[in-house]
Amino acid sequence: MTTETPDDTLLDRFECRACGYVYEPAKGDSTRAIAVGTAFADLPITWRCPVCGAPKKQFSNIGPVGSPSGFKENLNYGFGVNTLTPGQKNLLIFGGLAIAFLFLLSFYNVR
Ligand SMILES: [Zn+2]
Repeated sequence: MTTETPDDTLLDRFECRACGYVYEPAKGDSTRAIAVGTAFADLPITWRCPVCGAPKKQFSNIGPVGSPSGFKENLNYGFGVNTLTPGQKNLLIFGGLAIAFLFLLSFYNVR
């Protein structure tokens, strides 16, 4: 993170990697007298996580409010089925067939 783009990061939220606390510029930090609208980059260097006391460098940019938060995680969930190996897909297909076959058998057994 060496490039500084203040305009883009003004409303970005930062998450504490130590405890999961999220600093939101839109809310500020009332426990440290940080005014609402203070960008994370503008926080004093002495500012620390109000929950666990981690320094600023322990925080990760997780993007502004309103952007799809956890986008990468959602992407992974979406790929869940597509990352099945061919063997796993066959298992699903034949497993489904076997269940359908058993269902038919039980259907005839009832009569
Ligand atoms: Zn923390």
